[in-house]
Amino acid sequence: MPSTTVSVPPATGIPVDEALRLIRATGADLERAIERANLARDHFKGDEVRLCAITNAKSGHCPEDCGFCSQSSKYQTDAPEYRLRSAEELSHDAIRAWEAGAGEFSIVASGRAMTKERELAEVEAALRTIREKTTLLRCASLGLQDRASLERLKAAGLQAVHHNLETARSHHPNIVTTHNYDDEVEAIRTARAVGLHVCSGGIFGMGETPEQRVEMLEALRELDVDSVPLNFLNPRPGTPVAEKYNITLEECLAVIVVARLMMPAKEIFVCGGREVNLGQRLDEIFRAGANGTMVGNYLTTMGRGVEKDLQAIGRQGLRPVGITESATAPAKTRRLAAGDPRPGRSTARLPVLG
Ligand code: SF4
Repeated sequence: MPSTTVSVPPATGIPVDEALRLIRATGADLERAIERANLARDHFKGDEVRLCAITNAKSGHCPEDCGFCSQSSKYQTDAPEYRLRSAEELSHDAIRAWEAGAGEFSIVASGRAMTKERELAEVEAALRTIREKTTLLRCASLGLQDRASLERLKAAGLQAVHHNLETARSHHPNIVTTHNYDDEVEAIRTARAVGLHVCSGGIFGMGETPEQRVEMLEALRELDVDSVPLNFLNPRPGTPVAEKYNITLEECLAVIVVARLMMPAKEIFVCGGREVNLGQRLDEIFRAGANGTMVGNYLTTMGRGVEKDLQAIGRQGLRPVGITESATAPAKTRRLAAGDPRPGRSTARLPVLG
C-alpha cells in the first residue's frame, strides 16, 4: 500500500479509490491513517464532542425481518416486547439523559413505520415536553415515515430524523427482505424535504466486504446526510445476521477513519456495538475521527456508563458540546450556567440544526 500523506483532506473528502485502499489498512498504515483522521476531526470539528442518547419507546413485535435485529417478530430472541411508552415516560428519559450530559436525544420505536394516531399523538406530546424542559436536540427514529407525519411531528418540536441505510445497496437484500434499499433512501429524502436534520448510517460487520463498507459510506456522502452513526454488529442470539459477523477491531477503526476522511465536515458518531468491538481501543474513536458518540444504553443492549465516556473525553482534551464544566463533578458542586437550567451546562455551543 502506498504511504498515506498526513494532511487535512478537502471538505469534499477523499476519493473512493483512496477510501478503498484505507478501508483495508492495518498495522503502521492504519496508525498513519488514524493520525490523518484525527487531524481532519480537529480541523473540522475542533475539540467538540457530541453526545447523543436514545430511548427505546416501543420494543419488539416488528413485522420487518432486518436480520440483525432482535426486535423482529420473525426471530426467537430475548429482546423485551412492549407497546409505545407514555409521553411522560419518554420525556422523563429525555430529561434524565440531558441532566447526565447528552446534547441530543432520539425517541426510537420498533416497526416499519409509526402510523397510528394514538402513537403519533403520544410522540408529539413527548416532543413538546422535551422542547419545554430541555435544550436537547430532539430526534426520532420511527421507520419509514411519510411526509405528513414528519411535518406534524416537526410542528411539535421534532428537529432531526434518524434512519439508517443499514448497509450497502449491494448487500441490503442479504440483510432485509420486507423492505428494500430504495425505501431507506426515500425515508431519508422525505426527512430532508421536510427540513429536518438527517442522521443516517448503518451497521458494519454483517458479512459485507470492505468494498461494500466504502460503498455505503459513499452513498451517505452522495445523500449529503448531516450526521453519520457508525454501528458495529453486536451479534444477537437468534438473529440470522449473527452468523455472518465478520469485523475485527482494526477494521472498526478503519471504518471510522474512512468515514471521517470521506465526509470530513460531517458529524461522525460511533454508536452501537462499540464496547464489544473496540475493546481496549474504545477511547480511540475520537482519534480515529469520530466527533460524537452515543451515551447510556442502546435499544436492547447495555452501554458503559456516561460518566466513563465523559472521563475518557476529558482525558483526551475534548469537550462535550454544551458542557462548560466537568459533568463528572459531584452534582451538588455544579453551578447553574447562564441560559441552561442544567447544573453546569451552557447553551452557548449547542447545535443549531434543521
Ligand atoms: S430494525 Fe426496526 S424495522 Fe428492522 S426489524 Fe428491527 S425494529 Fe423492525
